Amino acid sequence: MRALVSVSDKTGIVDFTKELAALGIEIISTGGTYNKLKEAGVPAIEISELTGFPECLEGRVKTLHPIVHAGLLAMKSKPEHMNQLADLKIQTIDMAVVNLYPFKATILKEGVTREEAIENIDIGGPTMLRSAAKNYQDVTVVVDPRDYEKVLRELKEKKEVSLDTKFYLMQKVFMHTSHYDTMIADYLKKQRNDYEMPETLTMTFEKVQDMRYGENPHQKAAFYREIGKKTGSITDAVQVNGKELSFNNINDTNGALELLKEFTEPTVVACKHGNPCGVGSGDTILDAWKKAFAADKVSIYGGIVVVNREVTLALAEEMKQVFLEVVAAPKFEKEALELLQTKKNVRLLELKDIGVPQDENAYDLKKVNGGLIVQTIDSKLLVEEELKVVTHRIPTDKEMEDLRFAWKVVKFVKSNGIALAKDKQTVGIGPGQVNRVWAAKQSIEHAEELIDPDATKGAVLASDAFFPFDDCVEAAHQAGITAIIQPGGSIRDDDSIKKCNEYGIAMVFTGMRHFKH
Ligand code: 5GP
Repeated sequence: MRALVSVSDKTGIVDFTKELAALGIEIISTGGTYNKLKEAGVPAIEISELTGFPECLEGRVKTLHPIVHAGLLAMKSKPEHMNQLADLKIQTIDMAVVNLYPFKATILKEGVTREEAIENIDIGGPTMLRSAAKNYQDVTVVVDPRDYEKVLRELKEKKEVSLDTKFYLMQKVFMHTSHYDTMIADYLKKQRNDYEMPETLTMTFEKVQDMRYGENPHQKAAFYREIGKKTGSITDAVQVNGKELSFNNINDTNGALELLKEFTEPTVVACKHGNPCGVGSGDTILDAWKKAFAADKVSIYGGIVVVNREVTLALAEEMKQVFLEVVAAPKFEKEALELLQTKKNVRLLELKDIGVPQDENAYDLKKVNGGLIVQTIDSKLLVEEELKVVTHRIPTDKEMEDLRFAWKVVKFVKSNGIALAKDKQTVGIGPGQVNRVWAAKQSIEHAEELIDPDATKGAVLASDAFFPFDDCVEAAHQAGITAIIQPGGSIRDDDSIKKCNEYGIAMVFTGMRHFKH
């Protein structure tokens, strides 16, 4: 038996090949690998000795030779293949141990040049892997050092690698080479700043962790990270306390973080099932917490809380009183961390770059049965020049401040969504309703029931899309709401404007809607 060994990641290769040699397997290897084996005293011959051709072009051509590829691709079950090999004086290669130039590690390096990245595109490696994998019945192909042990075990116990294992290894190779090529294609696409929707969509992800289950306990799940993604996402969070993150934890924390990114002043966002339930901004992070908590003391139970300042001891003492699933912050003060760590179940996440907004060309993907719908992310909030007061009354500065606050929140409320705010605190949120007036009524009910019956008096209202009728204005007026922000654009805008003028409500159009489903 002969094994061709050519690896960039040399983890475990000496021990593995030593064992192969001890089993009587002849080892052929390429330059760097050969030197490593020789140093360790593993008997091997160099590839150039086999091909009679020197490695050339700085290693660009090492194994790209018919002696190698005919040796890997010849089918032992076909006499004509074996006869041809004999005529050509080529011997079969029965095992290929190959892993590729570190393209991923190269592109993730700070300040890497395009030339350096391209030089790290492996050519001969994938070619060998594919040849060997195609001929899996006759060739054992090992791309992952974690499989060395399994292969050795079978060789020792059964004197051969089972067909089942060979099939598994082959499938792994094609998964690996396709992932490798996709990584290259992705990198090059980003280099060109080409964000058109491509004819075929490929993106590369790698597993962060398996999860115990998905959205529900009977669903399997895993968490993947996008390779090459800029920082500022849940995938960069460092967990400093608590149980493993669940599918729902990750989804909800992600949603909460995206909302938090709209704010620069100290802000706290509490979230449940992908919707904000309480948001507050203040002079200090403790003020902000007090507002977010007071906004809805019921729904925050078992919720996700994200904050954009360091968690102080004073804040941790308040948080400790509440059952929370996740707290994410750029940092925790030492004493704050120690205090919260006394609660074993709360997952604490540190995320340094919490405020980094997403690249506006980033894709937002939604799986549909049998396909995928793709769009760029909703990265805009509003265009200042397009803000238009449409009523006789102009909002006061204070109303305007609250309108802007509520508009940021409603962008992240599931549609149809309405958010009410007062003093940079949400007082009512109506998410995910199938008609707009229900969302408005729900947000008002939220305020009256969960805060106090007068909570809506002097509050402002934000609607993620236009009012199709004037019924939302009517509901707002009855609740004592004094100002409204919405995109505008309905054929019945005039009805809503008229009603606002009648009631002395100030209304602003943004010209931009924020559906979110
Ligand atoms: P070594 O460190 O042994 O010199 O090189 C090992 C690496 O070279 C492996 O990652 C393998 O995939 C890659 N490789 C093997 N043959 C060729 C070839 O003909 N061309 C290129 N570009 N890479 C090769």
